[in-house]
Amino acid sequence: MAERSYFDWNATAPLRPQAAEAQREALSVPGNPSSVHAEGRAARRLTERAREQVAALVGARSGDVFFTSSGTEANMLALSPAIVTATEKRPRPRLLLSAIEHVSVRAGGRFSHDAIEEIAVDADGRLDLAALAQAVATSPLPLVSLMLANNETGVVQPVADAAAIVHTACGLLHVDAVQAVGRIACDIAALGADLLTISAHKIGGPKGVGALIRAREDIHFADPLIRGGGQERGLRAGTENVAGIAAFGAAAVVAQRQRQAEAAHMLALRNSLETGLQAISPRAVIFGAGAERLPNTTLFTVEGMKAETAVIAFDLEGIAVSSGAACSSGKVQPSHVLAAMGVSPPLTRGAVRVSLGWSTTAAEVEMFLNAWRKLATALSKEERGIAA
Ligand code: PLP
Repeated sequence: MAERSYFDWNATAPLRPQAAEAQREALSVPGNPSSVHAEGRAARRLTERAREQVAALVGARSGDVFFTSSGTEANMLALSPAIVTATEKRPRPRLLLSAIEHVSVRAGGRFSHDAIEEIAVDADGRLDLAALAQAVATSPLPLVSLMLANNETGVVQPVADAAAIVHTACGLLHVDAVQAVGRIACDIAALGADLLTISAHKIGGPKGVGALIRAREDIHFADPLIRGGGQERGLRAGTENVAGIAAFGAAAVVAQRQRQAEAAHMLALRNSLETGLQAISPRAVIFGAGAERLPNTTLFTVEGMKAETAVIAFDLEGIAVSSGAACSSGKVQPSHVLAAMGVSPPLTRGAVRVSLGWSTTAAEVEMFLNAWRKLATALSKEERGIAA
């Protein structure tokens, strides 16, 4: 294949070598973690070591980590009216979400449609805390689900402030930290989260493994999604994905150790990419630029651009970017995130997401900018009615 540059890390990150190695080693362990013999105990050791590693990444206790098949499943598990605590056993009647949540949260988990309320965001895509306070005041015992950073814009949400509001109303806060973990600080206690979702494949682990993490052991899930054997302390039946979990743990160790250095590396490159982009196209709009964003994400457009066409044009130049949300890449759908920010349809149709990672290089940024220069020239010729 000709030289290519990958700028779609928010869709998924490449497997870290340490995770690949842990996965390979775990695949050679034949035991089932539920078996009592030596082979079973060896497999159990792998899952429990990974539980400690994943817990350490977010400052939790290993006993509060529940492995799932994905971030999506962890979100689905968290969003249940039947989450009880030592002091509150009544069902949670309402689910409050920000208007920019990932589809796996927007779907509402086990809540009925009419029990779900959306909270507005401002023009930069940040949660409106006053609107949250108002919604919480009229919704007793709410479950509130907020993302720590948005997957399209990268905008970081005021989660700790939101937690204080939610807790005054005896609410519980679930935080979807899938895009944030490994890129910005993500400590479950500092965030004030009661529940936290993360996913292995965004931090250099394999696809198809996630975790739901609780802040305290008195938080119980009365309504498991998968019943059967007693795996994951009765919360998720089914023989564990031992190799995937072991690799998740290994990725968590590296993500924790290298977070600050990787974030600084990504931020420097992302800033030079944005400077170059705006030097080529002074009219380029970078969504959420007025807010704190993840160090690796740029969502941008110029008037008249169509995202699908741009993604294909970039691809032909050897650059992988995406249009709108990662999980709906390939589908032509207006972004609910940009709509919630009040962006008008001509601009939402052209939003292209560029997301960097720990192995992105300055040469790749240069390659991106060369491709953009070509594309921007073609666009402006088209606008002036000149055949390219
Ligand atoms: N939450 C957010 C914010 C995401 O960006 C994604 C995936 O892109 C998910 C949840 C779902 O995670 P998974 O792909 O592991 O199902």
